[in-house]
Amino acid sequence: MLQDLVLALGLQALDRKIVSLQNEIATLPKHIAEIEKRLEAHTRRLEAGKAALSANQRDRKKLEGDVQMHQQKASKLKDQMLEAKTNEQYRAFQHEIEYAEGEVRKAEDKILDLMEQSEPLEKNLKAAEMELKKEQQHVEAEKNRARERTAVDQRALSEANADRKKTAAEMDPKLYAHYERIRKKTKNTVVADATDGRCDACQIALRPQFFQDLRRGDQVMFCESCGRMLTYNPIVDIQSDVAASQQTA
Ligand SMILES: [Zn+2]
Repeated sequence: MLQDLVLALGLQALDRKIVSLQNEIATLPKHIAEIEKRLEAHTRRLEAGKAALSANQRDRKKLEGDVQMHQQKASKLKDQMLEAKTNEQYRAFQHEIEYAEGEVRKAEDKILDLMEQSEPLEKNLKAAEMELKKEQQHVEAEKNRARERTAVDQRALSEANADRKKTAAEMDPKLYAHYERIRKKTKNTVVADATDGRCDACQIALRPQFFQDLRRGDQVMFCESCGRMLTYNPIVDIQSDVAASQQTA
């Protein structure tokens, strides 16, 4: 096969590799954002757990204040009751004291309920904290893996870019300029095969004379329709072909 065609095929393989590496590298920030999103549900659960527990504690504190208030009221009423002048006044004080003491009991019962409820709340909160911690570790590990992968990709990318530079330098400058023009138009399908008499990229049938010239294989030929470089019975193992061409160069 013509050396220039071999180089063009090698260049095309490198260009495809470069694009796929660039794409993979570009997806990393998105991938990390997706991983981090997994933390959100856990964080929300933890926040809800904290809110429920602090509401419980706030209610208890208020009820404790109520207990104190009603106790003070009852004790004040007891002092006042001593100065009652009539049975009626005495009974009225007694009634008020009973009411205040009843309020104390009610508040104390509610406090007990809240204390009971706080146990599972605390358990839930602890569980949510542990799960979040575990998920954070998973996420960190996955982020590290993604970063490592990107570092590997970046190394491969700079190697591919160096190989590309080398291969391009070996090509005839005019041919390289043509290669670049077609590459930009065709997303890295610069070389097409025409072994069966048509360009397998744009499907145009080759003129008989043109096809005969192509089969002779003494010059690089371009599809008259799409401008791609054409191969006839290309060597399948392009990589070793390129390596061989680089060794002889
Ligand atoms: Zn074509």
